[in-house]
Amino acid sequence: MIWAVLILVAILGGAIGSFLNVVIYRVPIGASIVSPPSACPGCGSEIKPYDNIPVLSWMLLRGRCRSCAEPISIRYPLVEAGTAILFVLAALRFVPPLFDVDTVPAVVGGILALVAYLYLASISVALALIDIDTHRLPNAIVLPAYAVGVVAFVAAAWLSGDWTSLVTAGIGLLSLGGFYLVLFLISPAWMGGGDVKLAGVLGLFLGFLGWGPLVIGAFSAFLLGGLFGVAVLIAKRGQRGQGIPFGPWMLLGAWIGILVGEPIAAWYLSLFGLGV
Ligand SMILES: [Zn+2]
Repeated sequence: MIWAVLILVAILGGAIGSFLNVVIYRVPIGASIVSPPSACPGCGSEIKPYDNIPVLSWMLLRGRCRSCAEPISIRYPLVEAGTAILFVLAALRFVPPLFDVDTVPAVVGGILALVAYLYLASISVALALIDIDTHRLPNAIVLPAYAVGVVAFVAAAWLSGDWTSLVTAGIGLLSLGGFYLVLFLISPAWMGGGDVKLAGVLGLFLGFLGWGPLVIGAFSAFLLGGLFGVAVLIAKRGQRGQGIPFGPWMLLGAWIGILVGEPIAAWYLSLFGLGV
């Protein structure tokens, strides 16, 4: 049963990853994500559906356009494979607990939450790459995630009767968004307004899962981003480089919090003889 779910989720992830390649390229330049259909940047010939199968088509075509043999960046299949992997990890995190839930409404609520986290996974991939490319986190992608999270989590809380998660989700939104807002006000050069808006979204999705994921998710971003920043400074022998975008670290940290924040927090507390 779980294998069937994981295979379906992986195929869905690959297909959405294929669409995210379009989003990553077109949203920053303000182009429509639905038309015109994808075409080869070399010869302009439209990509045929049979040449648009995630990951597989790129391998079968050996990374070249069928018409003009222009190389196709390996980034496309990597985005597709990465999205598929993130979807499978999210399913492994959220599907098994559904088998322990004993009422139908609670299962429906759990599925709604899973869909919300798959949505977050999709925009996480898009935002990380857009931030690396353009040093921006477009409002068009960040802001709708508030609505998706609030609607899914209110419905999930109502269906399961568990309102605690909704309270921690609200606290997560306000505390992580507020924390980044303070950093932004102290040092606008270092922390962008887009980071503040994204922090609220990540706080919402982390808080819904509890205190452990919220704290681990928030802390991991600074730990990983800080280590990377130090490594870059050493590699460049102390010269200050162009600002490294922080968005990808926020997103990576948040996914560590979502996927393994609970066991990490429990282990950490156990070191001090605390926790369950
Ligand atoms: Zn071509």
